[in-house]
Amino acid sequence: MEITNCQHPNHDSQRIKYVCVDPQCSIPKKIGCADCFLDDHITHIRKTTTQFKDFVNDSIQQINSVEFQQASNSPQKDLEKQIDTELDSCMDCIKQKFNSIKGDLKGQIDSDMIKISDNCTQYQLNMNNELEPFKSTIRNDLHILNQTELNSLVKFYQEAPKIHKHYSKAAEQVQEEKQKIKQKKQKYLAKMRSIMQILLKDFNELMTSKNVQFDDCCDYETPQKQVMSPNKMINLVETARSSRRFPMSQTQKKYFLAAVTKKLE
Ligand SMILES: [Zn+2]
Ligand SMILES: [Zn+2]
Repeated sequence: MEITNCQHPNHDSQRIKYVCVDPQCSIPKKIGCADCFLDDHITHIRKTTTQFKDFVNDSIQQINSVEFQQASNSPQKDLEKQIDTELDSCMDCIKQKFNSIKGDLKGQIDSDMIKISDNCTQYQLNMNNELEPFKSTIRNDLHILNQTELNSLVKFYQEAPKIHKHYSKAAEQVQEEKQKIKQKKQKYLAKMRSIMQILLKDFNELMTSKNVQFDDCCDYETPQKQVMSPNKMINLVETARSSRRFPMSQTQKKYFLAAVTKKLE
């Protein structure tokens, strides 16, 4: 007796032909010949054994083809990289701005120092030129000097305290100028410090504002640049620059605005 034929004594060894797929069916034996189905599954949904096997095989294949993408290949990774890059270039941008302010500041102080140094050199030169003739004539016996030379020495004798006072005063002035530059430097330093405090305060506000509390109901499409708008940043930098009477040019402003806007978008 073949396994593909019905073994029921009254079913004439008919071919096993159907499988019952009816969800309502409570008969334990789901497979059978045409007579089995007449007896037990008359109104049930049935499939031929071939249809049944094909469906199950197809389903297995279909389900099998669902792929689980590895987390490492997800777009999340690219996004992280993008965030890193953008934050880095934003920080570079800010750093560059402050370096440029620092450079301007240093440049101005350097130029002030050069001016003082030039003045010193000039005073020294004047003094040497003025004293040189007397240095050589006074080395001689007075009686061998001609009248002009002697008269010059007499005049120097009379004016020496005045000349001394003149150069002492010049030296004092140079010292005062140096002191002024030192004070100016300290003033700039204090100004920079207060600007840094303003910036840090703004960043702190930014960090505590609801805009960076990434809750689930947050609208990710909303641009967050209002928090630290490009104009606000320019104003902060302008404050630093204007205090040194080096206002940002229109072109610089335009580039800076473009750079900052790009970073914040
Ligand atoms: Zn049967
Ligand atoms: Zn059935």
